[in-house]
Amino acid sequence: AEEFGIKQALKDLGIKDINEGTSTGKDFFGSGDIIESYSPVDGALIGKVKSTTKEDFEKVMTSATEGFKTWRKMPAPLRGEVVRKFNDELRRLKEPLGKLVSYEMGKSYQEGLGEVQEMIDICDFAVGLSRQLHGLTMHSERPGHRMYEQYHPLGVVGIISAFNFPVAVWSWNTALAWVCGDACVWKGSEKTPITSVACQKIAARVFAENGVPEGISCLVTGDYKVGEMMTTDSRIPLISATGSTKMGKIVASKVAERLGKTLLELGGNNAIIVTPDADIKMTVIGAVFGAVGTAGQRCTSTRRLIIHESMYDKVKDAVVAAYKQLRIGNPLDENNHVGPLIDKDAVKNYKHALEEVVKEGGKIIVEGGVLEGKGYESGCYVKPAIAEADNSFNIVQHETFGPVLYLLKYSGNVEDALEIQNGVRQGLSSAIMTNNLREAEHFLSVQGSDCGISNVNIGTSGAEIGGAFGGEKETGGGRESGSDAWKVYMRRQTNTINYTTELPLAQGIKFDL
Ligand code: NAD
Repeated sequence: AEEFGIKQALKDLGIKDINEGTSTGKDFFGSGDIIESYSPVDGALIGKVKSTTKEDFEKVMTSATEGFKTWRKMPAPLRGEVVRKFNDELRRLKEPLGKLVSYEMGKSYQEGLGEVQEMIDICDFAVGLSRQLHGLTMHSERPGHRMYEQYHPLGVVGIISAFNFPVAVWSWNTALAWVCGDACVWKGSEKTPITSVACQKIAARVFAENGVPEGISCLVTGDYKVGEMMTTDSRIPLISATGSTKMGKIVASKVAERLGKTLLELGGNNAIIVTPDADIKMTVIGAVFGAVGTAGQRCTSTRRLIIHESMYDKVKDAVVAAYKQLRIGNPLDENNHVGPLIDKDAVKNYKHALEEVVKEGGKIIVEGGVLEGKGYESGCYVKPAIAEADNSFNIVQHETFGPVLYLLKYSGNVEDALEIQNGVRQGLSSAIMTNNLREAEHFLSVQGSDCGISNVNIGTSGAEIGGAFGGEKETGGGRESGSDAWKVYMRRQTNTINYTTELPLAQGIKFDL
């Protein structure tokens, strides 16, 4: 790690170690168990944080609810100005933060920088949004009445995030929630606690310098038990949770018990349809980056390639040839394409998937395996694998969070391909490779892809912040980031004002006294 400047990055970000974890602003505390963060890159201990206890959590909630009372009164464009200043700091610290993301999570340095760039982009978006939190006006059916709607801040927003985008998902939520006037309590993944601390330090410093109450950005640390403190607490009207479908089902029911709101961003099982009219070169780049980028640990990673029988051998050969070029190793070294999986549990799941696909009748055409020896001491580096499979296999129906790609064959037309694509329980990202206008439009039509994200001639992986991000079915139905996703962080109020001396009732109802 040293040759890649990790120590300096931690220093630039002001990271010490122990006692940092829970925070209601610049003040870091926490009296629970110690969480140690080991890098999947080289297995080294990066740092330790203290987890949040029930008592710590109370302190956080008091600070957040109190802070909200002040923050909500600040005009939205002025809140936007604070987010702009926060963004200046992100720009200044892009390199050390990107490096830490790469080192703690294991994605390539380029992707680490890309993740910080996403934070910068969403902050820019949020600053503009701070002057555009529009409602509508309506015509009242009653004379001398005016009707309109307005959006008010919601309160304390709880954010639970996954390890694979340890910083961007937080900002997708917070940047919008902050300009909307909310306070945010964030529980990052217990697998990436140091990046959470780094982000909280930046936000807390900027907020303190600008007289923002400390509870507007809070951090809690720990595993699902700390998450449950959030999901069961009715002082948090909205829980935005990103992670596995298994987690989403638990979170959804806990929050529903108290009739709170959820924004769920859960697992995907994303496919690219390769039609007879596909451009092979583009298909290969899209499919290979989609399947092996971030070692297959993106919610939008390509899991299934659905290839027309007339193209099958050509595409298969090209993809297999491309896999031979892949360099696996330290993600901070820009010569490598594929870094490690997050931990040994992830390695176990990857190995399990390869065993299962064979048991169910699939055929491995690019061998997987765990790498050993120099540079691979963490035990988390695996070889991206490809298997020929059938969509009905149980293992194909489930998301394996690693670099395993399934090739599926279809015959007939795009409707047959769509049946396979939509024939899974998840509905996040989808793509079609075609130069045929009819196929492309059919794919995007009401009879087409059932996913939240549907692309033509680009892969499934990654997204721009300008669009609403999320998926259907077991992906959870939530939307965050661009478009009008901000509305979930606010409460809508319909107002009717009577400026006459009469009191006519709606629907012409008579009620004479
Ligand atoms: P995970 O479900 O194990 O954990 C995610 C977060 O949920 C963690 O912070 C964890 O502590 C918390 N959590 C777990 N159980 C909880 C409970 N009962 N109550 C409250 N909080 C709880 O997921 P992971 O392994 O960190 O991330 C990988 C998963 O996330 C994949 O399935 C991936 O597809 C998904 N993901 C989805 C999106 C999206 O936008 N749709 C984005 C990133 C990741």
